[in-house]
Amino acid sequence: MSIVKVIVAGPRGRMGNEAVKLVQRTDEFELAAVIDHKHNGINLSSIEGFQGIDVPVFSDINECFTKVEADVLIDLTTPEVGMYHTETALKHNIRPVVGTTGFTKEDLAKLESLTKEKGIGCIIAPNFAIGAILMMKFSQMAAKYFPDVEIIEMHHDQKLDAPSGTASKTADMIAAVRETKQQGHPDEKETILGARGANVDGMHIHSVRLPGLVAHQQVLFGSDGELLTIRHDSFNRASFMSGVKLAVDTVMKLDILVYGLENIIE
Ligand code: NAP
Repeated sequence: MSIVKVIVAGPRGRMGNEAVKLVQRTDEFELAAVIDHKHNGINLSSIEGFQGIDVPVFSDINECFTKVEADVLIDLTTPEVGMYHTETALKHNIRPVVGTTGFTKEDLAKLESLTKEKGIGCIIAPNFAIGAILMMKFSQMAAKYFPDVEIIEMHHDQKLDAPSGTASKTADMIAAVRETKQQGHPDEKETILGARGANVDGMHIHSVRLPGLVAHQQVLFGSDGELLTIRHDSFNRASFMSGVKLAVDTVMKLDILVYGLENIIE
């Protein structure tokens, strides 16, 4: 069994914390170091919540990559630094697995060409939950037979963007397999603005924001006398970790950039 040496950026964050635990409990992974912008030159075990995890902490990513030998960087930070971390990892021949959201099309194009130049794998996955990826794929399958569809996505009330990236991606995947269709009555009118939600290629997306929720989505397909509902719920951040594990395993075999786990789940 070959061991994959992993560096986690953002270990004190909600996702990063889960990723550290994932690497620790996975026999074929080894935690080599962490990158934390608020700590440097200490051992992770001295940070609360990481007792017994004996790896170095670096605030400077270049110093980390120069001093520590690693195969993969898992980045779970913020859009502002995620791009810099990903580029820096590729330049050091370390394969990025990026869960950080907010990359632009230009960022992706730049990373794609850097990945090609380096000839190593890179995975950027806005949603690591395997169930959410399957929900999108099943929805695309269903849309061939049920062209009338509405999406209801539900998230915690601290989420800044609406609709969610997963809802937009679901709509794009459905739009790729069905004829554009303006749904509902041709003369329908909103008596309260926004009542019908966002309109993507004729299908509607509704965004719910409530405390207590994590990340949830229903895709509803209606037809004569029947309704098909495809639903996924992430109840906690641990739900994303099977996808992170799959991405780390897969990135070691790739020599291209893959955007979205749906492209590696058959
Ligand atoms: P979070 O709890 O706020 O964690 C973010 C981490 O990044 C914190 O440890 C933070 O440190 C650190 N950070 C902030 N600025 C930094 C900098 N300049 N350099 C290095 N580290 C920095 O957020 P989260 O919920 O874990 O989410 C992290 C990212 O993953 C977000 O982009 C989120 O949208 C994304 N996400 C992805 C998925 C997926 O499935 N792909 C799922 C959920 C979330 P401080 O606490 O010191 O600021």
